[in-house]
Amino acid sequence: MSIQVFGIQVSRGVAIGRAVLVASSRVDVAHYYIGADLVPQEIDRLRVARNAVAEELEALKADMPPEAPHELSALLDVHLMLLRDETVIAATKQWVQERHYNAEWALSAQLEVLARQFDEMEDAYLRERKADVEQVVERLLRELGRVTSEGLRTPATPAPAGLASMPVPAAVTAARDFAGEDPLVLVAADVAPADMLQFKRSIFNGFVTDVGGRTSHTAIVARSMDIPAVVGAREASRLIRQDDWVVIDGDAGVVVVNPSPIVLEEYRFRQRQSELERARLSRLRHTPAVTLDGQVVELLANIELPGDAVAALEAGAVGVGLFRSEFLFMNRGGSLPDEDEQFEAYRAVVTSMHGLPVTIRTVDVGADKPLDRPGSGEGRHDHGLNPALGLRAIRWSLAEPGMFRQQLRAMLRAAAFGPVRILVPMVAHLSEMLAIREAVARARQQLQDAGRAHGAVSVGAMVEVPAAAVMIEQFFRHFDFVSIGTNDLIQYTLAIDRADEAVSHLYDPWHPAVLTLLHQVIAGATARGKPVSVCGEMAGDSAFTEVLLSFGLRSFSMHPSCVAEIKQRILRADTRQLEAVRLAALSSDSPAADVRAALAGAHA
Ligand code: PEP
Ligand code: MG
Repeated sequence: MSIQVFGIQVSRGVAIGRAVLVASSRVDVAHYYIGADLVPQEIDRLRVARNAVAEELEALKADMPPEAPHELSALLDVHLMLLRDETVIAATKQWVQERHYNAEWALSAQLEVLARQFDEMEDAYLRERKADVEQVVERLLRELGRVTSEGLRTPATPAPAGLASMPVPAAVTAARDFAGEDPLVLVAADVAPADMLQFKRSIFNGFVTDVGGRTSHTAIVARSMDIPAVVGAREASRLIRQDDWVVIDGDAGVVVVNPSPIVLEEYRFRQRQSELERARLSRLRHTPAVTLDGQVVELLANIELPGDAVAALEAGAVGVGLFRSEFLFMNRGGSLPDEDEQFEAYRAVVTSMHGLPVTIRTVDVGADKPLDRPGSGEGRHDHGLNPALGLRAIRWSLAEPGMFRQQLRAMLRAAAFGPVRILVPMVAHLSEMLAIREAVARARQQLQDAGRAHGAVSVGAMVEVPAAAVMIEQFFRHFDFVSIGTNDLIQYTLAIDRADEAVSHLYDPWHPAVLTLLHQVIAGATARGKPVSVCGEMAGDSAFTEVLLSFGLRSFSMHPSCVAEIKQRILRADTRQLEAVRLAALSSDSPAADVRAALAGAHA
């Protein structure tokens, strides 16, 4: 039966594929296809892992002290029985044989099938046995991590805290071209931003998650991958079953499960149309972004990892307006990148941009981007009651001055290879402004004393907290430039958690307070000749292009995939005719509708 699930659109386009359901705690399981010739080998890995787990359980049973409660040994018996149960192992083998899934993927796919069967059981006792199956699968997955493709077991190593420590086999990339396989979409209750990052190299054509808002970091990373995604689709992971055919309509925020042939055909048609549109837009790549009245507009790229610089250049961006450096700090199983490692990453971006400016943001951890670092750093500072209002971004950096200076030194060193701007997130207090300037000066002095090469940088602040927008005059005195982070500015102005789908209907970029603050900062910067940019999602949303131009904005930073569409709007705009748009945005009771009407008038 075909059903529809409604959520929040994250990125454009249509994805059609078979659902791969992944439990939130298991998104770090590697998903890749194996070649037909490797099927016996993969099944052998399963066998070796199963035997090892069985041995481990037998040994536990044998070593059990006589006074141990007999339930414990009964539990081990249940686990041993499950290990030998055909519905676990034989069905898992089938996923490997028929679908060519790697063993870990096959196992977690089968777990999803079984978990659902248990959930539907009438008998409460039997329903609770689901936890046993999960524990057994968990053990098997851990064991598989130690079994090489030759079926050999490597010595036990501490469990990795994140995905990065799990090398994604070369087969993953090759899998995209693996002929004859159905396209796949990922369905999960939730995916952490750090895990989403790993999917950049994965085989999925689209995503659906139950939770999340339009500007949650999970959504932002999904958007940067330029594949259709829907978040906040509440019941999706419960309603969609492993292997269902799913259409993800990223434009409308709708997920269609098991569509009828007619609906499927309609979506396939739309898919082709949007591919054609993209191909058409990509021809604008080398065209400078200049309005009809000759206003030059700078279109910059937002990136998460050094490798994204390639996409920025390919999209025709004239620099990097936001490099979210915190993603270098994630998925590292507990360690943080030292100065040299950071320097190499920053230098890589600077050199790949061939002389174009690179804006590197100092680390913005906290809120919905936690660090996986127990016992130190952000972990040491505890998560607090309300992480979005807690020790986040610059507050975290200033609480870790050694680490902050280390990052600043790495940036200053990278500046010897090309133009670098340092951008600091979430600044709100005068004391922070002074501490930032002092930290930069000290980092520079340290490099000087050590005789290390470094370059000139400009230092800017993000305007993300309403306080910053209100006291923007002070910012201009202490910083060389500002960049407006509308994602957080909206969150903090309207007191709406950007990652919470329950209040996502109130997360409104058209809110008069948001537009007024934006105008105030852009107009203030323009009047003082200070560079100002917008690097939140609004910059890449074509509904706001003329509004931002009418406020005086001439620098936009966005996902590389948005650059062409925004450029097209700029090429068609005439800033001399945007006064009605500016007035509608700033003084109307329904700015969205009135801006649209004003634009229709301007184009008439
Ligand atoms: C923003 O808040 O608009 C921004 C660009 O930063 P981030 O989305 O990483 O919080
Ligand atoms: Mg922000």
